[in-house]
Amino acid sequence: MRKPLMAGNWKMHKTVEEARTFARALRAAVGAATDREVVVCPPFTAIFAVAQELAGGPIAWGGQNAHWQTHGAFTGEISALMLKDLGCRYVIIGHSERRQYFGETDETVRRRLQASIAAGVIPIACVGETLAQREAGQTFAVVERQVKTGLQGLAPDAGIVIAYEPVWAIGTGKTATPAQAQEVHAFIREEFGKLYGGAAAAAVRILYGGSVKPDNVGALMAQNDIDGGLVGGACLDVESFLKIVRYPVP
Ligand code: PEP
Repeated sequence: MRKPLMAGNWKMHKTVEEARTFARALRAAVGAATDREVVVCPPFTAIFAVAQELAGGPIAWGGQNAHWQTHGAFTGEISALMLKDLGCRYVIIGHSERRQYFGETDETVRRRLQASIAAGVIPIACVGETLAQREAGQTFAVVERQVKTGLQGLAPDAGIVIAYEPVWAIGTGKTATPAQAQEVHAFIREEFGKLYGGAAAAAVRILYGGSVKPDNVGALMAQNDIDGGLVGGACLDVESFLKIVRYPVP
Protein backbone atom coordinates (compact mmCIF):
# COMPACT_ATOMS: atom_id res chain seq x y z
CA MET A 1 0.00 0.00 0.00
CA ARG A 2 1.57 3.29 -1.09
CA LYS A 3 0.86 6.17 1.27
CA PRO A 4 -0.18 9.27 -0.71
CA LEU A 5 2.32 12.11 -0.53
CA MET A 6 1.62 15.77 -1.23
CA ALA A 7 4.76 17.88 -1.50
CA GLY A 8 4.87 21.65 -1.92
CA ASN A 9 7.79 23.11 -3.84
CA TRP A 10 8.07 26.74 -2.76
CA LYS A 11 10.80 27.47 -5.31
CA MET A 12 12.32 30.94 -4.71
CA HIS A 13 9.46 32.28 -2.61
CA LYS A 14 8.86 33.49 0.97
CA THR A 15 10.94 35.36 3.51
CA VAL A 16 11.71 33.72 6.85
CA GLU A 17 8.76 35.46 8.51
CA GLU A 18 6.37 34.51 5.72
CA ALA A 19 7.62 30.94 5.93
CA ARG A 20 7.03 30.82 9.69
CA THR A 21 3.52 32.19 9.36
CA PHE A 22 2.71 29.70 6.61
CA ALA A 23 4.13 26.72 8.49
CA ARG A 24 2.24 27.61 11.67
CA ALA A 25 -1.05 27.96 9.83
CA LEU A 26 -0.54 24.76 7.85
CA ARG A 27 0.34 22.79 10.96
CA ALA A 28 -2.73 24.03 12.80
CA ALA A 29 -4.98 23.18 9.86
CA VAL A 30 -3.53 19.76 9.03
CA GLY A 31 -3.75 18.55 12.61
CA ALA A 32 -2.69 14.95 13.05
CA ALA A 33 -3.13 13.76 9.46
CA THR A 34 -2.07 10.17 9.17
CA ASP A 35 -3.47 8.72 5.95
CA ARG A 36 -1.46 11.02 3.68
CA GLU A 37 2.00 12.48 3.99
CA VAL A 38 2.47 16.24 3.70
CA VAL A 39 5.82 17.84 2.86
CA VAL A 40 6.92 21.42 2.32
CA CYS A 41 10.14 22.32 0.53
CA PRO A 42 11.07 25.93 1.32
CA PRO A 43 14.11 27.73 -0.06
CA PHE A 44 17.27 26.95 1.92
CA THR A 45 17.08 30.28 3.80
CA ALA A 46 13.76 29.37 5.43
CA ILE A 47 14.29 25.68 6.21
CA PHE A 48 15.56 26.23 9.74
CA ALA A 49 12.59 28.42 10.67
CA VAL A 50 10.12 26.00 9.07
CA ALA A 51 11.75 23.10 10.91
CA GLN A 52 11.26 24.93 14.20
CA GLU A 53 7.57 25.47 13.43
CA LEU A 54 6.89 21.92 12.24
CA ALA A 55 9.07 19.92 14.64
CA GLY A 56 7.22 17.09 16.37
CA GLY A 57 4.21 17.28 14.05
CA PRO A 58 3.04 15.25 11.07
CA ILE A 59 4.26 17.62 8.33
CA ALA A 60 7.75 16.92 6.98
CA TRP A 61 10.07 19.39 5.29
CA GLY A 62 12.70 19.13 2.62
CA GLY A 63 15.19 20.91 0.41
CA GLN A 64 14.94 21.77 -3.29
CA ASN A 65 18.38 20.52 -4.30
CA ALA A 66 21.52 18.96 -2.79
CA HIS A 67 25.11 18.66 -3.95
CA TRP A 68 26.82 15.27 -4.26
CA GLN A 69 29.74 16.11 -1.99
CA THR A 70 29.28 16.24 1.76
CA HIS A 71 31.29 19.47 2.13
CA GLY A 72 34.04 21.42 0.40
CA ALA A 73 34.82 24.30 -1.92
CA PHE A 74 31.53 24.45 -3.83
CA THR A 75 30.40 28.04 -3.46
CA GLY A 76 26.65 28.41 -3.47
CA GLU A 77 25.90 24.72 -3.01
CA ILE A 78 24.31 22.86 -0.10
CA SER A 79 25.01 19.23 0.77
CA ALA A 80 22.48 16.55 1.59
CA LEU A 81 24.21 16.18 4.92
CA MET A 82 23.42 19.82 5.67
CA LEU A 83 19.78 19.16 4.85
CA LYS A 84 19.84 16.16 7.15
CA ASP A 85 21.26 18.42 9.84
CA LEU A 86 18.15 20.60 9.43
CA GLY A 87 15.89 17.61 9.87
CA CYS A 88 14.88 17.39 6.21
CA ARG A 89 13.17 14.11 5.40
CA TYR A 90 13.05 14.84 1.65
CA VAL A 91 14.93 16.67 -1.06
CA ILE A 92 13.79 17.46 -4.60
CA ILE A 93 16.42 16.40 -7.12
CA GLY A 94 16.59 17.09 -10.85
CA HIS A 95 13.66 19.50 -11.07
CA SER A 96 13.20 20.65 -14.67
CA GLU A 97 14.08 24.21 -13.68
CA ARG A 98 17.44 22.89 -12.44
CA ARG A 99 17.89 20.98 -15.70
CA GLN A 100 16.80 23.94 -17.83
CA TYR A 101 18.55 26.86 -16.10
CA PHE A 102 21.40 25.34 -14.12
CA GLY A 103 22.84 22.67 -16.39
CA GLU A 104 21.58 19.67 -14.45
CA THR A 105 22.02 16.42 -16.41
CA ASP A 106 20.97 12.81 -15.84
CA GLU A 107 24.49 12.18 -14.58
CA THR A 108 24.52 15.02 -12.02
CA VAL A 109 21.00 13.99 -11.01
CA ARG A 110 22.24 10.47 -10.36
CA ARG A 111 25.13 11.75 -8.23
CA ARG A 112 22.82 14.01 -6.23
CA LEU A 113 20.38 11.13 -5.72
CA GLN A 114 23.13 8.85 -4.45
CA ALA A 115 24.45 11.48 -2.05
CA SER A 116 20.99 12.22 -0.70
CA ILE A 117 20.31 8.56 -0.01
CA ALA A 118 23.74 8.19 1.62
CA ALA A 119 22.92 11.14 3.88
CA GLY A 120 19.58 9.64 4.88
CA VAL A 121 17.44 12.17 3.03
CA ILE A 122 14.78 10.73 0.71
CA PRO A 123 15.08 12.13 -2.78
CA ILE A 124 12.11 13.14 -4.89
CA ALA A 125 13.60 12.54 -8.33
CA CYS A 126 11.99 14.59 -11.09
CA VAL A 127 11.61 13.43 -14.67
CA GLY A 128 9.52 14.69 -17.56
CA GLU A 129 9.52 15.75 -21.19
CA THR A 130 9.39 19.19 -22.76
CA LEU A 131 6.60 20.28 -25.09
CA ALA A 132 8.84 19.86 -28.14
CA GLN A 133 9.71 16.34 -27.03
CA ARG A 134 6.05 15.44 -26.50
CA GLU A 135 5.06 16.87 -29.86
CA ALA A 136 7.87 14.90 -31.50
CA GLY A 137 6.54 11.70 -29.94
CA GLN A 138 9.58 11.34 -27.70
CA THR A 139 7.89 11.34 -24.28
CA PHE A 140 8.58 7.70 -23.47
CA ALA A 141 12.12 7.73 -24.85
CA VAL A 142 13.01 10.82 -22.80
CA VAL A 143 11.50 9.50 -19.60
CA GLU A 144 13.10 6.11 -20.16
CA ARG A 145 16.52 7.74 -20.52
CA GLN A 146 16.01 9.90 -17.44
CA VAL A 147 14.99 6.88 -15.36
CA LYS A 148 17.63 4.50 -16.74
CA THR A 149 20.53 6.91 -16.49
CA GLY A 150 19.48 9.11 -13.60
CA LEU A 151 18.06 6.48 -11.30
CA GLN A 152 20.47 3.60 -11.83
CA GLY A 153 22.77 2.23 -9.13
CA LEU A 154 20.76 3.45 -6.15
CA ALA A 155 20.05 1.46 -3.03
CA PRO A 156 16.81 -0.36 -3.98
CA ASP A 157 15.36 -0.01 -0.50
CA ALA A 158 16.17 3.69 -0.17
CA GLY A 159 12.52 4.68 -0.41
CA ILE A 160 13.16 7.03 -3.33
CA VAL A 161 10.15 8.95 -4.61
CA ILE A 162 9.78 9.82 -8.30
CA ALA A 163 7.93 12.84 -9.64
CA TYR A 164 6.67 12.88 -13.21
CA GLU A 165 6.55 16.51 -14.22
CA PRO A 166 5.87 17.21 -17.88
CA VAL A 167 7.81 20.44 -18.39
CA TRP A 168 5.02 21.89 -20.54
CA ALA A 169 2.64 21.64 -17.58
CA ILE A 170 4.84 23.34 -14.97
CA GLY A 171 3.65 26.80 -14.04
CA THR A 172 1.66 27.05 -17.27
CA GLY A 173 -1.80 26.21 -16.03
CA LYS A 174 -1.82 23.30 -18.52
CA THR A 175 -2.23 20.00 -16.72
CA ALA A 176 -1.68 16.63 -18.28
CA THR A 177 -5.03 14.90 -18.45
CA PRO A 178 -5.37 12.16 -15.82
CA ALA A 179 -5.11 9.59 -18.64
CA GLN A 180 -1.95 11.19 -20.08
CA ALA A 181 -0.35 11.28 -16.64
CA GLN A 182 -1.42 7.72 -15.78
CA GLU A 183 0.08 6.39 -19.00
CA VAL A 184 3.51 7.85 -18.20
CA HIS A 185 3.32 6.91 -14.50
CA ALA A 186 2.66 3.29 -15.42
CA PHE A 187 5.59 3.40 -17.84
CA ILE A 188 7.89 4.85 -15.16
CA ARG A 189 6.86 2.14 -12.73
CA GLU A 190 7.65 -0.47 -15.35
CA GLU A 191 11.07 1.07 -16.07
CA PHE A 192 11.83 1.28 -12.36
CA GLY A 193 10.93 -2.41 -12.12
CA LYS A 194 13.50 -3.21 -14.80
CA LEU A 195 16.16 -1.60 -12.59
CA TYR A 196 15.07 -2.80 -9.17
CA GLY A 197 12.51 -5.58 -9.58
CA GLY A 198 8.77 -5.91 -9.29
CA ALA A 199 8.47 -5.47 -5.52
CA ALA A 200 10.40 -2.19 -5.59
CA ALA A 201 8.32 -1.02 -8.55
CA ALA A 202 5.09 -1.80 -6.73
CA ALA A 203 6.29 0.12 -3.67
CA VAL A 204 7.80 3.22 -5.26
CA ARG A 205 5.67 6.32 -5.01
CA ILE A 206 5.29 8.32 -8.20
CA LEU A 207 4.00 11.87 -7.81
CA TYR A 208 2.49 13.96 -10.57
CA GLY A 209 3.60 17.58 -10.92
CA GLY A 210 2.45 20.24 -13.34
CA SER A 211 -0.25 22.77 -12.48
CA VAL A 212 -1.86 20.60 -9.79
CA LYS A 213 -4.73 22.64 -8.36
CA PRO A 214 -7.56 22.02 -5.90
CA ASP A 215 -9.96 21.38 -8.77
CA ASN A 216 -7.90 18.81 -10.67
CA VAL A 217 -6.17 16.92 -7.87
CA GLY A 218 -9.05 14.48 -7.26
CA ALA A 219 -9.14 13.21 -10.86
CA LEU A 220 -5.37 12.83 -10.93
CA MET A 221 -5.29 10.99 -7.61
CA ALA A 222 -7.97 8.59 -8.85
CA GLN A 223 -5.44 7.09 -11.28
CA ASN A 224 -3.85 3.77 -10.29
CA ASP A 225 -0.24 4.83 -10.60
CA ILE A 226 -0.47 8.39 -9.28
CA ASP A 227 0.55 8.37 -5.63
CA GLY A 228 0.65 12.07 -4.85
CA GLY A 229 1.54 15.49 -6.14
CA LEU A 230 4.51 17.79 -6.40
CA VAL A 231 2.85 21.16 -6.28
CA GLY A 232 4.38 24.51 -7.23
CA GLY A 233 2.21 27.59 -7.58
CA ALA A 234 -0.80 26.22 -5.70
CA CYS A 235 1.24 25.32 -2.62
CA LEU A 236 2.17 28.90 -1.73
CA ASP A 237 -1.20 29.69 -0.26
CA VAL A 238 -2.28 27.72 2.83
CA GLU A 239 -5.92 27.40 1.79
CA SER A 240 -5.14 26.19 -1.68
CA PHE A 241 -2.44 23.74 -0.54
CA LEU A 242 -4.81 22.41 2.12
CA LYS A 243 -7.49 21.73 -0.47
CA ILE A 244 -4.93 19.73 -2.41
CA VAL A 245 -3.73 17.86 0.67
CA ARG A 246 -7.36 17.04 1.47
CA TYR A 247 -8.19 15.90 -2.06
CA PRO A 248 -11.41 13.92 -2.12
CA VAL A 249 -10.75 10.19 -1.88
CA PRO A 250 -12.25 8.64 -5.01
C1 PEP B 1 6.78 22.35 -9.83
O1 PEP B 1 7.49 23.34 -9.85
O2 PEP B 1 7.26 21.28 -9.43
C2 PEP B 1 5.42 22.47 -10.30
C3 PEP B 1 4.75 21.39 -10.57
O3 PEP B 1 4.91 23.75 -10.44
P1 PEP B 1 3.38 24.14 -10.76
O4 PEP B 1 2.51 23.35 -9.82
O5 PEP B 1 3.32 25.60 -10.50
O6 PEP B 1 3.12 23.77 -12.17
